[in-house]
Parts: sequence; C-alpha cells; structure tokens
Amino acid sequence: MVSDRKKLFGILFITALCFFLYTYILPKIVFKYNFYYKNFIFHSTEPIEDSIKYVLSNSQKNLKQFDFNLSGFTQDIYLCNNKILFTIYAFGSFNAFAVNNNITNNIFIADASINSNTAYRQNNGKVYHRKLSEIIAHETTHTLVQKKTGLIRSTFLPAWINEGTCEVVAKGVNDNDSLLRANFLQTSFFDKNSEKYAWYYMCVNFLMVHKGYTVDSVLVCRSDFDSIKAETKEFYKIK
Ligand SMILES: [Zn+2]
Repeated sequence: MVSDRKKLFGILFITALCFFLYTYILPKIVFKYNFYYKNFIFHSTEPIEDSIKYVLSNSQKNLKQFDFNLSGFTQDIYLCNNKILFTIYAFGSFNAFAVNNNITNNIFIADASINSNTAYRQNNGKVYHRKLSEIIAHETTHTLVQKKTGLIRSTFLPAWINEGTCEVVAKGVNDNDSLLRANFLQTSFFDKNSEKYAWYYMCVNFLMVHKGYTVDSVLVCRSDFDSIKAETKEFYKIK
C-alpha cells in the first residue's frame, strides 16, 4: 500500500516536472532572443528585427479599441518559424496560424515574416497568409477574454462567441454594411475553418454594430449560433 502511494507520488512528481520543463524552461532555452515592447514580449529563435515595433503597435492599436484592461498586462509571444517546434507546442492545431496555450497563455506562432507583417499557415500543400499583427491581436484577445471570464468559463464559451470576439478585435469593427457584404461574397475561403471564422466575425460584428453589444455583453450572450447566423444572413442579404 505504502509503495503504491510512493509510486503514485513519483509519477505525479515526474509528470509535474516534465510539464514545468516543457512549459516554462524549454521555451526560454529554445527562443533565446527577446524583444520587449508595449504590452508584449516577443521571443524568437533568431535575432528580432526592429520592424517588430510596427507589428506590435498595430496589434495594440486593435486591442485598445475595446474594453480591455491593458495596464500591467504582458503577453508572451513565441515565433516558431519551424514546423517541428510549432507541432510540439500546437498539439492538435498544427495547421493553424498560431495557438494560445490556455494554461500558460503563451502564444506560439507557426511561421511569419516580421518585416512584411505577414503570418503563414499551410493546409494540404496550400499556403494561406494573413497580417501578423492581426494574428497577435486575435491570440492576445483569447488571453484577455480568459482574464475577464476565468479559465473555466472561457474554456466553455461557444466557439462563435470566443473566436468571433477575437476576430472582431483582430480585424476591427466594420460598420459599412454594403462593403462588408461585398467583401464577404467575394472571399474565396481557404478551407472550411476559414469560412467558419468568417461567419463568427460577421455575427459578432453584427451584434456590435447593429445591436449595441460590447465585448462584455457578447461574452454573456445566450443566443445560439444558428439563430444569430440566420439573423445576420438575413440582415446582410447573404444566401
Ligand atoms: Zn482563436
């Protein structure tokens, strides 16, 4: 009995040690270059160009449009630029632009060029790109939403609310209905996921522009996605 208990403590200790090494120590060894700027600490395996200031300023500008408390807030961002490294940290999301580890709130970016403010993701041999500053704003919003709601509630938030809020922060609110509709209809989606995220954006943007929702009221919205999507579709006349 005693030896069983010792064995259990041993396993728990080794698990905790591995988790600590993997989560806190390994990133600090692998990503040896750091750049502190505004609310961010940007980490990379390679020297970081000064143009990161432009990228991070844009991300912060997006965050400041919304009701987030940024005072004393710091977000760590790790640029992988290496498939294996990203796969180690992204778990199941290795085709994503980036992931936010909801235990440590560290952000890992798959692949990006700082100088051109561009992030890349690959799926089935196709490469898709998006502004790096938008990706950083999106992932940082996940951390800020978690700060507002707590880990448990943020984990169980419906995807359309969680991802839709992050997308609206990343892209900004758009109150030009006809332009928004035209852009949506002209978009050829990279994959099913991109289309899903575009609808999340459309729905949360609709609530903010036409129903007076704030980030806080979106986060407590009880409506289901299908009914909000139907209302949004009807409003923008999208079939
Ligand atoms: Zn997200």
